[in-house]
Amino acid sequence: MPIATVDPATGETLETFEPLPPAEIERRLAAADTARARYRTSGFAERALLLNRAADLLEEDAPDIARTMTTEMGKPVKAAEAEAAKCVKTMRWYARHAEELLADERPAQADVADSGAARAAVHYRPLGVVLAVMPWNFPLWQVVRFAAPALMAGNVALLKHASNVPRTALYLQDLFGRAGYPEGCFQTLLIGSDAVESVLRDRRVAAATLTGSEPAGRSVASVAGDEIKKTVLELGGSDPYIVLSSADVERAAKTAVTARVQNNGQSCIAAKRFIVHADVYDAFRDRFVAGMRELTVGDPMNEDTDVGPLSSERGRADLEELVEDALNRGATALCGGQRPKEQERGWYYSPTVLTDVTPQMRIHREETFGPVATLYRVEDLDEALELANDTPFGLSSNVWTRDDAEIARCVRDLQAGGVFFNGMTASHPGLPFGGVKRSGYGRELSGHGIREFCNATTVWYGSAG
Ligand code: NAP
Repeated sequence: MPIATVDPATGETLETFEPLPPAEIERRLAAADTARARYRTSGFAERALLLNRAADLLEEDAPDIARTMTTEMGKPVKAAEAEAAKCVKTMRWYARHAEELLADERPAQADVADSGAARAAVHYRPLGVVLAVMPWNFPLWQVVRFAAPALMAGNVALLKHASNVPRTALYLQDLFGRAGYPEGCFQTLLIGSDAVESVLRDRRVAAATLTGSEPAGRSVASVAGDEIKKTVLELGGSDPYIVLSSADVERAAKTAVTARVQNNGQSCIAAKRFIVHADVYDAFRDRFVAGMRELTVGDPMNEDTDVGPLSSERGRADLEELVEDALNRGATALCGGQRPKEQERGWYYSPTVLTDVTPQMRIHREETFGPVATLYRVEDLDEALELANDTPFGLSSNVWTRDDAEIARCVRDLQAGGVFFNGMTASHPGLPFGGVKRSGYGRELSGHGIREFCNATTVWYGSAG
């Protein structure tokens, strides 16, 4: 895949970039290693100062970097501005909380004594150079949610960003540089995915995090496994959105539209499969389909646009294949199911709701990365849970109900990294984020996220004398 900025709203190539030659990759690995040795001894106050400065700069840059993101991957510009704001908030959150999240732990005194120690503690120490392989769909956020905790923990970062967001990738390196981070603490490597393996195998790289598709995750995890290096994987999702009979249907349907089409439908935690109790099915379907029809599809630079183009021609073709397979096998499109007629160029796709979906259709099991929802009718909670869990993925899940017994069942039985009741899945710096099954492993954000790339070191003190 060429490293290039291609505007998804027009299909026009705006800029292409040469991948870094091997000698330059080597120079940057050496710089990362030098930075690692010094930066690991910095204190939390110094790290917080740097991260807060980066947050301030990003806040100033937000309107410009938002337009860069929209140009590179097509998200509506108002969503891009919100993404930048969320990054600022998360940087400040980690600058404020990292020290307490990584405070030394004191095991119970009875256990310390039982181990024969005078005292003992757990210290969280940085792992070193962490390689981050990141996707294009939230080109700032995916990087910041890794980098903010990693840098506060005393690690340094090498970013291999998706090949279609090079300007955003270069902006990030520039941002951390302007904030005053020592050289080598945060570097962008403009490289193709074929160069990832040799970087990951390099002895100076301690660990890797990857957010992206299952094949990419499998590839990075197997190389890391071979090298016995720690990884965190944030992969795809096909989150269920369950609406039960006691739900506030009006609100559930309105939220469902946003939950499905946020980021032009290209979000790992977008609700993708809508599973609705028979008692409220008709009411939900009518409101949901009406809401999807009312969306404004168009130029992502326009403040009024709800849904812009998909990020690439290939991405739209993949989505079209899934929809066509379903329609050919008997699914019904309640709206959409094709490209919008108004847009002559660019990689647009109409908001779509499919029903009469069966397990024989690819769309039943595969992730739809675009504004396409599948709608299922169920008779009771048992059937809803069975359908919700009938997927290789397990990222998050959404349930609408007012019934406490149903809530308890869902918390116990949904196979996902999150269960969100009467609202849609969203990440927050203080809440752990991640999945199970083919959605990956490990957690980002919160105390769980910052400890992923730390060495939890047992420190045991025997009697000195
Ligand atoms: P992708 O094709 O897997 O790309 C993600 C990153 O991995 C890019 O930097 C890509 O580089 C690189 N890559 C691809 N193949 C690789 C390989 N064999 N070895 C090493 N690196 C490789 O995914 P995408 O299309 O950008 O993103 C969409 C996917 O990401 C969806 O499945 C979505 O659900 C998932 N996602 C998950 C989360 C989460 O938090 N769980 C968040 C966002 C997205 P190139 O661009 O150079 O190919």
